[in-house]
Amino acid sequence: MLEVRDLVKHYGDATVLAGVDLAVAEHQVVTLIGASGSGKSTLLRCVDLLEEVDDGQILLDGVDVSDPRADTAAAQRRMAIVFQGYNLFPHMTAAQNVALAPRVVHGVPAGGAEERARELLERVGLGAFAGAYPDRLSGGQQQRVAIARALAVRPRLLLLDEITAALDPELVGEVLAIVKELAEGGMTILMSTHEMGFARQVSDRVCFLDGGRVLESGPPEQVLGDPVQERTKRFLARVV
Ligand code: ATP
Ligand code: MG
Repeated sequence: MLEVRDLVKHYGDATVLAGVDLAVAEHQVVTLIGASGSGKSTLLRCVDLLEEVDDGQILLDGVDVSDPRADTAAAQRRMAIVFQGYNLFPHMTAAQNVALAPRVVHGVPAGGAEERARELLERVGLGAFAGAYPDRLSGGQQQRVAIARALAVRPRLLLLDEITAALDPELVGEVLAIVKELAEGGMTILMSTHEMGFARQVSDRVCFLDGGRVLESGPPEQVLGDPVQERTKRFLARVV
């Protein structure tokens, strides 16, 4: 479904992505790991077309969506991204946050959008909190609302950038459980995480990013359990 070919991204003089190759098949979960600054967030932002790329291609269902002539808005409607900070609108209830994009971007009537928002909140275990404002929710609950909001646009590809990194440790599990359910339900996911145990549980493939390149990739047992590259070994020795 997604294919990234030789993707290059510079910020000024710094080469942040130095030719990334990566593929995510439908219903697969692919996880990016790597040290801080290795380019995980940049790659996810490039895939979501939030950043212009300098070279290479991003193919979504075979169409190069990074091409300047491509219909960026149409491509973005097929993806959703969740970041580390939940970024909910504080003046809107959980249900209104979830219903916003379907209404504004996809033209779903308000009533239908809110009804579906409630269903999605049920799905992330927050049915009772539809009318709550973000400041009344815990960090884990807010992040689950953010996931429901991402699902509201019925994305074909879900991008998750370290969505548990800002959470207190006791709240991480509830968010990861939702991701696991989505994965088991067949959602196609490209995510970055520092939670190696979780990466091992849910991923079909793990990609180790180093210096803006995929240095090593493969099944989680191999990359996380028996890595080939020295740098991967050193990284894992530090984080596990
Ligand atoms: P982390 O694990 O800390 O989230 P990461 O792998 O997500 O790290 P990125 O955020 O993609 O790494 O950053 C890769 C490099 O690009 C870093 O050196 C960072 O300083 C640089 N960078 C990221 N965004 C910008 C920007 N908007 N302008 C300039 N440099 C940037
Ligand atoms: Mg990052």
